[in-house]
Amino acid sequence: MQTRRRLLKRLQATVLMLACSSAAALAQAYPSRPISLIVPAAAGGPTDTVGRLMADSMGRTLGQQVVVENIGGAGGTIGMARVAKAAPDGYTIAVWHIAHSTAPSLYDNLKYNVVDDFDTIGRITDVPMTLVSKTSLETKTVAEFLAWMKAKGTAVTYGHAGIGSASHLCALLLMSATGTQITPLAYRGTGPAMNDLVGGQFDMMCDQTTNTTNQIKEGKIRGYAATTLKRLAVLPDLPTLDESGLKGFEASAWHAIWAPKGLPADVKAKLVAALQAALKDETVIKRFADLGTEPVPLDKATPEALKAHLVAEVAKWAPVIKASGAKGN
Ligand code: ASP
Repeated sequence: MQTRRRLLKRLQATVLMLACSSAAALAQAYPSRPISLIVPAAAGGPTDTVGRLMADSMGRTLGQQVVVENIGGAGGTIGMARVAKAAPDGYTIAVWHIAHSTAPSLYDNLKYNVVDDFDTIGRITDVPMTLVSKTSLETKTVAEFLAWMKAKGTAVTYGHAGIGSASHLCALLLMSATGTQITPLAYRGTGPAMNDLVGGQFDMMCDQTTNTTNQIKEGKIRGYAATTLKRLAVLPDLPTLDESGLKGFEASAWHAIWAPKGLPADVKAKLVAALQAALKDETVIKRFADLGTEPVPLDKATPEALKAHLVAEVAKWAPVIKASGAKGN
């Protein structure tokens, strides 16, 4: 009897131990395999740059590889449709930007709801933009450039990363501020567009500092102005458009992390913590500074703050886009 009772106790203890360790294993299970980070724009462009920095840093925190997958096209809506349909298990996430908030106003056939079909993780950075051209143009100053643009009108060609992309929105603002119409050329991202601008295949672009700073410094393209209200520490010689006669001109591209709707709470918490750690990571801060940007304050890098920002941006851009007559499909 004694032996049987002892055996039973030992058995109970073993079962309890097994239960505890498998619960611990489950809690620690995420991430147990590589995470796919979708960048809905071509490789080598501004969002790709932000995405790869996040992938490296978050991967170190999470103890797993975060693999960037570039799915460009249709102003980022092809890549984001893929994210919306993916399993909400934390193994598919996206780094995308302001275009997520303009998509509902531009694309009638959008396959997803930009707010309801995603879990927000947090905002990363607000990237300033710059007005740049190929180097073979005669114009040297922003005043000369704007006068040339007005005089040439539709003969001027500009590159952008798809309808609703940051480069497209910035050009729309520029056209409306100067009362001009110039001719668009759409790319899958400003990475490939930049190659063509350096090659002189079109005239100008309004693109993010993460893609233009080094090219301007190396003399491969000409920089005229910053689209922020304050001059950029990284390109201090560039005047702002605001100080160059286009009063109040301001354009930047905020970036953030999204996941498919319905993430388990513990998975979401790990992703938020990894994002917040990345924004405090010296490597990320230094690289951002070299490229003319900086991490957002940590209270903006939360699911709640990103959701509120997204909802406000959707409402802000809807009337602007309607008035511009722009359409994605
Ligand atoms: N984010 C786009 C890219 O990475 C650029 C843009 O929106 O203008 O190419």
